[in-house]
Amino acid sequence: MDCCATQGLIPVETALETLLSQVSPVSNTHSLALADAIGFVLAEDIRSPINVPPFANSAMDGYAVRIADLEQSLTLPVAGKSFAGIPFEGEWQPQTTVRIMTGAKIPEGCDAVIMQELTTETDAGITFELSLADVKPQANIRPIGDDVSQGQTVLAKGHRLTPRDIPLIASLGINDISVVDKPKVAFFSTGDELKPLGQPLEDGQIYDSNRYGIKVLIERFGCEAVDLGIIPDCPETLKEVFLKADKEADVVITSGGVSVGEADYTKDILDELGQIGFWKLAIKPGKPFAFGQLPNSYFCGLPGNPVSAMLTMYVLVQPMLAKLAGHTKWEAPKSIPAKATSTFKKHPGRTDYQRGIYSINEQGQFEVSTTGNQGSGAFSSMSIANCFVVLERERGRVDAGETVNIELFNASLY
Ligand code: AMP
Ligand code: MG
Repeated sequence: MDCCATQGLIPVETALETLLSQVSPVSNTHSLALADAIGFVLAEDIRSPINVPPFANSAMDGYAVRIADLEQSLTLPVAGKSFAGIPFEGEWQPQTTVRIMTGAKIPEGCDAVIMQELTTETDAGITFELSLADVKPQANIRPIGDDVSQGQTVLAKGHRLTPRDIPLIASLGINDISVVDKPKVAFFSTGDELKPLGQPLEDGQIYDSNRYGIKVLIERFGCEAVDLGIIPDCPETLKEVFLKADKEADVVITSGGVSVGEADYTKDILDELGQIGFWKLAIKPGKPFAFGQLPNSYFCGLPGNPVSAMLTMYVLVQPMLAKLAGHTKWEAPKSIPAKATSTFKKHPGRTDYQRGIYSINEQGQFEVSTTGNQGSGAFSSMSIANCFVVLERERGRVDAGETVNIELFNASLY
């Protein structure tokens, strides 16, 4: 029996599997304009109705030629011009050239574009300063459909739109995008000690920082955030807010109150309202975590300590919300081996997500050092970090020089 089992701790992978197996994607879709579609998940494949480019065009400013003409003479008079949006029309007489600009339509019969820098204007026309052997057929010509061909699937259903996708879709002339409705996620902080920003702290109070972190992550994960504020440790109020949140949202997220303290009332309320598992995870920080189902929504109870709250949002809630949002192309952060340049304190028993600062050394290898204070309440360790140093459950202290696995923060933390 491993030490997780002996301590009754659930391994992170097991928790994640359980959580994902219980969540089904939202099924409603709607359509919106491309300009508003960033961050939405595609409800249908995007197939191109046209070739891109829709016609063969020049990759350079220069002169359109027929190589056969150049074989006769390296000086040719100009027959006309083809500019972007204004193609050459008329007849292209043999032994002539056509002035052409970048993006302009290639005249019929042209088999190369010679860049302007290789030409001079003379009384007799344009002189090409090159040897014929250097002129490759189709040089500087972007063929029709070079980028995307008509009927091609460029993005698949389940893909979440990034800034890189928007101009691609625009190039296809598509404006109406069918997307999955963003899941609604209601969230609130619990704790008598929490004060909202803008008010002075009284003795024993702290500012409610988690709600700010939770909100931005919900939005970064592609969901709609519904902020229900700070709720005191009062069973009646908590129950009321849980009922309201459950009615309004697809997911309810709380921070605080899921451990075993005397003011941790959420367990009793949730036992009454739904089916919630209170887990003790083999993860550090972030051991206390709750997950389950309310009458209309899913529930995630995050630990109150700020680093634990953000970490469990990232490691557990992020994949769950991706599944819920229909984002089937979501990928977990990749693990990269790196050389430790500092010691990392650790005891066997839990997977440790320490905060690290990675760099790439002169040999091109990843190196990582600790951010220092790894306390679950010390949020500056998250702010200055650029990666997690994921130390295996059974591993103990790591000395400088050992290899560790790091996970670079994904876009949700940037
Ligand atoms: P709890 O999980 O409620 O026992 O809280 C654990 C620790 O996290 C305590 O030190 C709390 O004061 C702190 N904490 C709980 N909620 C928040 C919050 N919203 N913002 C900052 N710290 C919090
Ligand atoms: Mg509390």
